[in-house]
Amino acid sequence: MEKRVYLDNAAATAVRNEVIEEMLPFFDIEFGNPSTVYDMGSRVKASIDDQRAKVASLIGARPEEIIFTSGGTEANNLAIKGIAFAHRKKGDHIIIGATEHHSVLNSARFFERLDYEVTFLQVDEYGLVDPQRLKELIRPETILVSVAHASNEIGTIQPIAEIAEVCRDKNVFFHTDAVASVGNIPIDVKELGVDLLSLSGIPLRAPKGTGALYFRKGLRLMPLLHGGIQESGRRGGTENVPGIIGLGKAAELTLQELPQKIRHVKVLRDKLVKGIIDSVENIKLTGHPENRLPGHASLCIQAIEGEALVFLLNSHGIYVNTGSACASKALKTSPVLVAIGVPPELAQGSIVFTLDMPNTEDDINYVLEKLPIVVNRLRSMSPLWGKRETVQAG
Ligand code: PMP
Repeated sequence: MEKRVYLDNAAATAVRNEVIEEMLPFFDIEFGNPSTVYDMGSRVKASIDDQRAKVASLIGARPEEIIFTSGGTEANNLAIKGIAFAHRKKGDHIIIGATEHHSVLNSARFFERLDYEVTFLQVDEYGLVDPQRLKELIRPETILVSVAHASNEIGTIQPIAEIAEVCRDKNVFFHTDAVASVGNIPIDVKELGVDLLSLSGIPLRAPKGTGALYFRKGLRLMPLLHGGIQESGRRGGTENVPGIIGLGKAAELTLQELPQKIRHVKVLRDKLVKGIIDSVENIKLTGHPENRLPGHASLCIQAIEGEALVFLLNSHGIYVNTGSACASKALKTSPVLVAIGVPPELAQGSIVFTLDMPNTEDDINYVLEKLPIVVNRLRSMSPLWGKRETVQAG
């Protein structure tokens, strides 16, 4: 097989073998419908409940506070729409972070069309929101605040506990999109003090199209999918049983191995960043230098185009991202980089590395060998390189 160095683990991961093995019997042996009363169904129902407990354990929740979804996007939609519809009588004002994922952003925007008002909470140069500023923006008619726990694009981790405290004091529901953080850093919903939290199977190395929403016990939530009594009536439809089994197994393994994973990816990430700073001039690291995801490196390289860089690295078998996976097809400057004040010319050269357990030191050495060559090649063709101004890395 040709050399492949995969450093885009925020976009997709290889499903772990242990997870695949756990899922397999649920395709053709334990294929009963969990809503049926005979033993083939009740066994599957019991297995789903086991997985609910495992996912709950990973984030310090109770099993009954977990709703399985088709991924982070559905969890975010369910959180925002579920609260905004159920609590319309209380108010019609929603506040979201300025750098949210499209599934949060567009869910909130949907309510603008229904005559709700949406306020965007600005971020500083590191992508951090200011809890004090949030306090000033909350009004009597505010029902929901949604701020992502961490950014998949610039790696910054938000002060979620402080934000949650502001919301609690003001009696406003608080949701966090934790797709980028669950599986990458320890999470405890009670310590964070959040009312709702979204997660996806992707960073856990579970199948794509799996995920869950945590909602604090007692919270009133309107379902997105009206149907049967599955998920206690909060999400109709026959369950994606193999996916749920995979998510539960992945959550169990993640909980056991998280400290080891954090150590592993952090060492590799630090080596990668140091190596790039030493070998490529005129770059700017993006996101917070310390409060960031351990396996995440993001930077902008002056006078190159991110997409061109991705393609050239691809030709060497290196897979990286240039901004959020879902936004990178749109040829425009990343809204996250604009929000943190990166000048548009520099933001064009955005590159994002997300590491996971399968990555090795050899992977990093290979990137550090190829990246300067690829950057020099692109710069030698760029008219912007001749007119450059010096950029500081930090
Ligand atoms: N939120 C964030 C921060 C993401 O990066 C993504 C994409 N992985 C999502 C939500 C959507 O998750 P999913 O792809 O599981 O729907």
